[in-house]
Amino acid sequence: MRFIDRAEVARRLTYEACIPIVRDAMIALSSGRTRQLLRSILPLAEDRLLGVMTGALGPDAPFGAKLISVFKDNFARGVQSHQGLVLVFDPTSGAPVCVVHAREITAIRTAAASAVATDALARRDARRLAILGYGEQAAAHARALGKVRPLESIVVWGRSPERASAFARRIESELGIPVSVSHDVAEAVARADIVCTVTAASEPILRGAWVQPGTHVNVVGSSYAGPVEVDDDLVVRSRFVADSRESVLRQGAEFLKAKAAGLIGDDHVVAEIGQVLAGDKVGRLRSDDVTVYKSLGHIVQDLAAAWALYSGPEVLGTDP
Ligand code: NDP
Repeated sequence: MRFIDRAEVARRLTYEACIPIVRDAMIALSSGRTRQLLRSILPLAEDRLLGVMTGALGPDAPFGAKLISVFKDNFARGVQSHQGLVLVFDPTSGAPVCVVHAREITAIRTAAASAVATDALARRDARRLAILGYGEQAAAHARALGKVRPLESIVVWGRSPERASAFARRIESELGIPVSVSHDVAEAVARADIVCTVTAASEPILRGAWVQPGTHVNVVGSSYAGPVEVDDDLVVRSRFVADSRESVLRQGAEFLKAKAAGLIGDDHVVAEIGQVLAGDKVGRLRSDDVTVYKSLGHIVQDLAAAWALYSGPEVLGTDP
């Protein structure tokens, strides 16, 4: 069995490669070609859990699972908060053939999915990005979103001004785009065309009242029915696009909270991103719409990326 380590994932799963892979996976998910079970969450202790995700890319296609631990307090200690493995099975023999470093593949495929959604939902002239959070996903999103819009500037907000400054310096020197720090979320998003919420916050950090007309927001940090990163107002006033309708109706914490308050019904999910990408539904209708992409993350994204890594140079164009 082949093991694909963190360094190989980082080297070969570039955003240029991963964005079209995830795009195709989301279209396949919405068309019903793929299969997956709802993510299971096993709570371990306060702020610690094990996530189990299983799926198949089609009836005669690769299938497998991801096991991932999320230890929220690791971040403050400089240790990865998400660690685990993606296990891929061969569709012909049924044998497990490959194990991939899950942390790296998760970071890249999640940001690639947000890039795909941003490309479909943000205004064509969107140039200014605000990132709320400065962890792994924040860095991955800064890298990925520049592949779908020519970013002119990035502003970052986080609870610690020192960590936000260190992140800003690192990303500015890596990407060559001005990256500034804002100490206030309202100020950070006031001039943004695109906003990404990529924190482990459990209460809203972003309020709809602060988001300008025409903004696109990727809501990424909460992946199960529990933590909430944005308030009801933002959910209600947005054109709300799900990565998976079924998953958002069962595990999309922000959506479920607004629904429980009686503010929206299930029909508030205007589309799945795969339907927008396939041209079956419209995401953004008007230039002053606020669009929200709710990302929960899906095993088909992991499997499609892992299978491309396993398949050899002809798929990704790089040697293992
Ligand atoms: P990291 O551990 O690398 O970073 C966590 C970030 O959240 C840090 O910026 C941390 O900063 C911040 N944070 C923690 N608590 C709070 C709070 N109460 N208020 C504001 N900020 C807070 O995690 P990742 O970057 O890998 O992941 C970020 C989030 O995205 C996680 O919740 C993760 O589960 C989720 N995720 C979602 C995926 C999807 O597919 N939708 C896939 C992968 C991850 P500080 O503590 O200094 O404030």
